[in-house]
Amino acid sequence: METLTTQQQSFLLSTLRDVPDFPKDGIVFKDITTLLNNHEAFNLLMSHLESKYKNQGLEYIAGIDSRGFIFGSALATRLGIGFVPVRKKGKLPSKTICEKYELEYGFDEVEIHIDAFKNKVGAKVLLIDDLCATGGTAEASAKLIIETKATLVEVCFLINLSFLDGKNKIEKYAPVYSVLNI
Ligand code: AMP
Repeated sequence: METLTTQQQSFLLSTLRDVPDFPKDGIVFKDITTLLNNHEAFNLLMSHLESKYKNQGLEYIAGIDSRGFIFGSALATRLGIGFVPVRKKGKLPSKTICEKYELEYGFDEVEIHIDAFKNKVGAKVLLIDDLCATGGTAEASAKLIIETKATLVEVCFLINLSFLDGKNKIEKYAPVYSVLNI
């Protein structure tokens, strides 16, 4: 199903667990492990994303470290295309390009293999992660994909924290789709 009904969205929402004050005071952490261990929910989500993206000529799914790997790789195999990890600095073994982004306190960096899309100019890529908060991680990841000369077709999240406005930041690079807006 290309569009989820309100009932299906509510069902997916009901499988998420809010963990207050993790990883630090004041943050309500959206725990997706309770969706992943519910076969009906995980399958509904992946079937939805499969039907939404199957006719878009995508060539790669890029997933953001680390929960984007779970949804991204599952989607890539469903679509019959390759998966590419965007990782936190220092984890990828071959030649990388790197992008720094600002956190609440300090900076972090993400990396991608320079040849992740096999150097194909215009390769059609969907970027995916579990959640958009400030949008900083996805924005940096989007910049990396564009720097490889691939085409960033869309950025997809399971959850968008609408009150944080991170989506706007990413829309400068590509359209953004989120399954659940909170
Ligand atoms: P941001 O760069 O601020 O959009 O943060 C996005 C990254 O941090 C994603 O990879 C999320 O998995 C994680 N994240 C940020 N805030 C939360 C939250 N409230 N609950 C779960 N994960 C979060």
